[in-house]
Amino acid sequence: GGADFECEMLVLGAGPGGYSAAFRSADLGMKTILVERYATLGGVCLNVGCIPSKALLHNAAVIDEVAHLEANGIKFGKPEIDIDQLRGYKEKVIGKLTGGLAGMAKARKVDIVRGIGTFIDPHHIAVDLTTGSGKDLKNERVVVKFQKAIIAAGSRVVKLPFIPEDPRIVDSTGALELKFVPKKMLVIGGGIIGLEMGTVYSTLGARLDVVEMMDGLMQGPDRDLVKVWQKMNEHRFDNIMLNTKTTAVEAREDGIYVTFEGEKAPKEPQRYDLVLVAAGRAPNGKFIGAENAGVVVTDRGFIPVDKQMRTNVPHIFAIGDIVGQPMLAHKAVHEAHVAAEVAHGEKAYFDARVIPGVAYTDPEVAWVGMTEAQAKAEGIKIEKSVFPWAASGRAIANGRDEGFTKLIFDAETHQVIGGGIVGTHAGDMIGEVCLAIEMGCDATDIGKTIHPHPTLGESIGMAAEVAHGSCTDLP
Ligand code: FAD
Repeated sequence: GGADFECEMLVLGAGPGGYSAAFRSADLGMKTILVERYATLGGVCLNVGCIPSKALLHNAAVIDEVAHLEANGIKFGKPEIDIDQLRGYKEKVIGKLTGGLAGMAKARKVDIVRGIGTFIDPHHIAVDLTTGSGKDLKNERVVVKFQKAIIAAGSRVVKLPFIPEDPRIVDSTGALELKFVPKKMLVIGGGIIGLEMGTVYSTLGARLDVVEMMDGLMQGPDRDLVKVWQKMNEHRFDNIMLNTKTTAVEAREDGIYVTFEGEKAPKEPQRYDLVLVAAGRAPNGKFIGAENAGVVVTDRGFIPVDKQMRTNVPHIFAIGDIVGQPMLAHKAVHEAHVAAEVAHGEKAYFDARVIPGVAYTDPEVAWVGMTEAQAKAEGIKIEKSVFPWAASGRAIANGRDEGFTKLIFDAETHQVIGGGIVGTHAGDMIGEVCLAIEMGCDATDIGKTIHPHPTLGESIGMAAEVAHGSCTDLP
């Protein structure tokens, strides 16, 4: 059939995966069209994810930090919080970044078609145009013909079936809207997103309960790292319910009543002023008409791809949250570059040895590669070395010496294969461990690298020095 627009590269979805793919495609000389339903570029990450959460977490961390100073003889008193202004600050941060992306798209001559895309065959996509914020349809459909496509339609919040509609029950997007600060808040799901948002609300004055089906909060990093975070954060919680299921949620006039099931769970329904549902995210694979293009989608909605990010249809690629875990922005961006380059005919492929994870809580927890738990489960022989921040001049000077830095080495090759850091700014430092793993460094390489003193980053060098002493076959 006919088409309203034609392009060499069609990118569906303008999150970190989609805009990176579109920009790289355009830079490589392909005529590129980017389809996005919402008014701004940036997807979940910029609009309702990574960036707004960090804008709020930064303010929370400063409030908490200032409170620590009281022990040093510096008192600021109780903070006065204007929640409207704080929300405005968050919006301003988003605006700066999405505005920047719009400028970059324009500079590269990436055309944006604003609407909901649905594939109609392997070379055509229909776009139902949207208005304003992107939530409403214009009742106008255009068809784009493409030679190649990159699917970057991301993921969405998992909704629990038994949860009613009520303004006092929110998902992460609702929590980021920061409408009010509740007295008593429940976080359903003790993962990173729930704990980050819980941190913000708790610092602003809420008392927290958290309920988690698994036997620990923050799945992913080793328990020794999480333990430090938990000890420093216990004061925020009235009740941490592990191995516990949420079985019923009822909205009453005086609050949201939640029923739990678990050994240590309260028998009576508990009352909350705000409930945050942070029970995971699901891929959008089933909502884009992939079947019309012949693209395979799994039962759960993921799109399987090979190392070149190709789907089963050779000229259609997929990247980001929609292709699988970990659902992280930095993974999406790297996959995006591979997809665009392969589509352009280059021999690129996605071969990251490791993808780091960070909980931007206070203290932060950052980890990458092999964990001790994983090594144990898989029977891999490792050596580890730990540098406690109680011996770090900078951490002590900062009054924040609760953290530690851990490196994990392959017992045979002595190469670094994993690492974890808990402490302030851990997320900013884990990149060095990622580089060390990608480059196949051993303890000597890191230990003999001169790190600036006194810094928190020095702790990575120190951890390597500790291991260096214990390695047998070093030159
Ligand atoms: P998305 O960002 O989900 O973008 C997909 C885009 O496609 C969306 O804009 C959507 O509107 C559009 N779209 C989908 N279907 C269609 C269609 N049919 N037609 C038109 N447009 C469509 N990750 C980190 O790395 N660090 C963090 O600190 C972090 N914090 C987070 C905090 C929160 C609260 C949340 C929810 C997530 C966070 N994440 C974080 C995860 C991160 O946001 C995602 O991994 C990332 O956004 C995935 O990028 P993506 O390009 O795959 O998809």
